[in-house]
Amino acid sequence: MVRELDHWIDGRSVPRGTQRALAVEGPFERSVVARVALGEAGHVELAVRAARAAARGWADRAPVDRGRLLGEVARRLRERADEFVSVEVEETGKLVAEMRGLLNVSADYFEYYGGVVRALFGETIDLGAGDHAFTSREPYGVVGMITPWNGPLTQASRGLAAALAAGNTVVVKPSELTSSTTLMLARLCEEVGVPAGVVNVVLGTGPEVGAALVDHPDVRLVAFTGSVGTGRTVAAGAAHRLVPTILELGGKSANVVFADADLDRAVAGALAICTGAGQQCAALSRLLLQDEIHDAVLARVAERMRARTPGERLAPMTTEAQFEKVVGYFDVAAREGARLVTGGHAVTGDLAAGRYVEPTVYADVTPKMRIFQEEIFGPVLAVTRFATEDEAVALANDSDYGLVASVWTADSARALRVASRIDAGQVIVNGGRTGIETPFGGYKSSGVGREKGFESLRWYTQLKTTVVSTR
Ligand code: NAD
Repeated sequence: MVRELDHWIDGRSVPRGTQRALAVEGPFERSVVARVALGEAGHVELAVRAARAAARGWADRAPVDRGRLLGEVARRLRERADEFVSVEVEETGKLVAEMRGLLNVSADYFEYYGGVVRALFGETIDLGAGDHAFTSREPYGVVGMITPWNGPLTQASRGLAAALAAGNTVVVKPSELTSSTTLMLARLCEEVGVPAGVVNVVLGTGPEVGAALVDHPDVRLVAFTGSVGTGRTVAAGAAHRLVPTILELGGKSANVVFADADLDRAVAGALAICTGAGQQCAALSRLLLQDEIHDAVLARVAERMRARTPGERLAPMTTEAQFEKVVGYFDVAAREGARLVTGGHAVTGDLAAGRYVEPTVYADVTPKMRIFQEEIFGPVLAVTRFATEDEAVALANDSDYGLVASVWTADSARALRVASRIDAGQVIVNGGRTGIETPFGGYKSSGVGREKGFESLRWYTQLKTTVVSTR
């Protein structure tokens, strides 16, 4: 069945009528799974107007009341997990088990922000002589939120939960290639009692709908997740209007393994490149191995990668453009002279109807190579060797990106030293578990601002100082 998707504005579906629609082909068979309305500036206008009209009422509710509704969203999401999981799997190609995990993460965002918003206070400042001041955290009003195709439900949940908890209303523009679960989420918010106009979804392309949202004078904060190139365009548009942005962009994250590390765990950790078939901003796509263990770890990682059979244990590329991009990098790597250890091709045979590529490992990758510097966004590891700690840090930092890094070593002083020297917004030592509590965001070109954790509430609010005289 082909899903017909229409905008969700002011608590109702806006039928597209005779307007244009995009037929989206899913990753498994490349057959049409959804027809998505292609909105225009007029739809953005309607949605922002609805969000603006709802803003005061939503902001005036006690945080505890907003929080309870968000808790209900979480509960309902878990109740309807099967439906959300099957739709998102059909559109993105994610492995079912992975998508089940992501559904829980999405629900967690609503629970977490629904709870912690009650701890969002300001400060009091005593100025002496009867003068006092206090600060408070106020919502911006209407937030324009633009999300990518690689994690539609988690990305929308991450931003929406924090923005709504903080008292903002939101207009979301999901990727036109994976819009279904964002729409389902907006309807679900409405079902649990979030008032009409608080969450709106306008469907369509970036240059039409996304740009109109960024340019709309009543959008007071732009929260963008996507690529660096688009992030620059969005940031320039927002800067022109002097509105703040949260930019969650790409990465080329380094995974540094020292010879004294627990190699079993480090090898298992390196396989995280296969999660989401590598279509993850936080993918640890550069594996840096110390000389002494380089050959042994490379062999073990390659063997484990080979076992990630496409179809069963490795998802396809979500979009046609992404499939072509990864296949294009196989050619780039060959031309650049990287040593192919395993993979390096699109999958042929029974699975060829789907957008599958082989899990791939390149060795002898040097910093001058494009596969060392550029985000491939596929199950592709670039492996580079190093001798010393200084060299490892220099290699890790030889990147325009700075989203995440990982360090494996038994020497805890070295772990903390290296973690502090790597320019990344999040550093994982010895496979530490990250969660929605841990702030996430980029250094350098990987972005501006932080999502996740309590920190996110600060980015979704603005600070007011009120000064009072008791004289
Ligand atoms: P993209 O930049 O192509 O698109 C992202 C969104 O922006 C889409 O909704 C798109 O329609 C919209 N858009 C495109 N042009 C626009 C314009 N001119 N104005 C406004 N909006 C516009 O990115 P993508 O290919 O969908 O997603 C993959 C990228 O997202 C990767 O680089 C990945 O690393 C990044 N990402 C980052 C995070 C993070 O949290 N840091 C999370 C997920 C994905």
